[in-house]
Amino acid sequence: NTRVVLAERPVNRAPVEGDFRIERVPLADPADGEVLIRNGFLSLDPYMRGRMSAAKSYAEPVQVGGVMPGEAVGQVVASRHPAWRPGDMVLGNTGWQEFGVLPGERITRIDPNLAPASYYLGVLGMPGMTAYCALLYLGEPQPEQTVLVSAASGAVGQVVGQIAKIRGCRVVGIAGSDDKLAYVRDQLGFDAALNYKDRDGGTKEFETLSREVADCCPDGVNVYFDNVGGVVHDAALANIALHGRVIVCGTIAVYNELEKRDIGIRWMRQLLVKRARMEGFLVFDHAHRTEEFRHTMAGWLSEGRVTYKEDVAEGIESAPRAFIGMLAGANRGKQLVRISQD
Ligand code: NDP
Repeated sequence: NTRVVLAERPVNRAPVEGDFRIERVPLADPADGEVLIRNGFLSLDPYMRGRMSAAKSYAEPVQVGGVMPGEAVGQVVASRHPAWRPGDMVLGNTGWQEFGVLPGERITRIDPNLAPASYYLGVLGMPGMTAYCALLYLGEPQPEQTVLVSAASGAVGQVVGQIAKIRGCRVVGIAGSDDKLAYVRDQLGFDAALNYKDRDGGTKEFETLSREVADCCPDGVNVYFDNVGGVVHDAALANIALHGRVIVCGTIAVYNELEKRDIGIRWMRQLLVKRARMEGFLVFDHAHRTEEFRHTMAGWLSEGRVTYKEDVAEGIESAPRAFIGMLAGANRGKQLVRISQD
């Protein structure tokens, strides 16, 4: 079994490949009540950067020397649990490794006839559910309203924009490269998109960004779906409409600074002036909506109303590099690692 463990915590810096270690260990046998899973696809998600840090958060950090956490889809190869048989396709948090052993209660069945197995890590899984629950239940978008979303072409963002279009909204995306802007506009039907980076690859100044958001959102921003925080958040809040809603879903712009003091909120007075609402979101709080989400999203996928782009790295050894790249915006769509072919 090949696995990836945390070798060193990156403190106030971006992770590098040396922070991870690839290990080869003997295959573990499942104990009573457990199953052995051979992973097909591993999901790489920004939250894993937080788990590498010892800073206080909503979840415990991974220990140095511990297997990097992460969800995967795979096939049961041995079972000592009555509910599971070899061949069953399942989803579970095995971490970054080829094979995982989990208690039978901690895995869920997936239906590869409904959608490709990898979709259960993306549009039909945690990122899709994040987009669905946060947009619809916190954002409450109304037809004709303007929805602005950052990290717009990513795992969560691409779904947010498409659901907002289904709800009859005007959708504006923010992303960090021109091909990402083209993707959301031309393939996903966003109404407008803007690049938050300047020509040198740095983040644009607040004044420039705020003006560009105003140009793309002439009637103001009714819902800002914030995946990034930082100056992009400032520019969105400066343009919030009367009774606007800001969903704080992610703050990836500061994931490499979690050990420092927290960032403040500029333009907070906008919340008062525009009687706007800002609310934090955590997908686990919405677990009771899983069935509703899966059913609705599966329908949209089969009708072609939602499409989904994946970026697949090959082999478990490629996980550290793909993860580092994803945090820096190298991914084109949902970042996955293919671990085995079948
Ligand atoms: P993505 O697929 O969108 O990948 C991350 C993207 O973030 C990169 O591609 C990059 O795109 C963008 N990014 C990186 N650094 C910056 C920066 N400094 N400023 C602006 N954008 C940046 O990831 P996900 O869709 O999986 O996740 C998106 C966000 O949602 C993350 O913050 C994540 O933590 C959060 N999240 C929160 C959940 C919750 O329950 N609260 C659940 C799931 C996700 P670009 O090229 O556009 O810069």
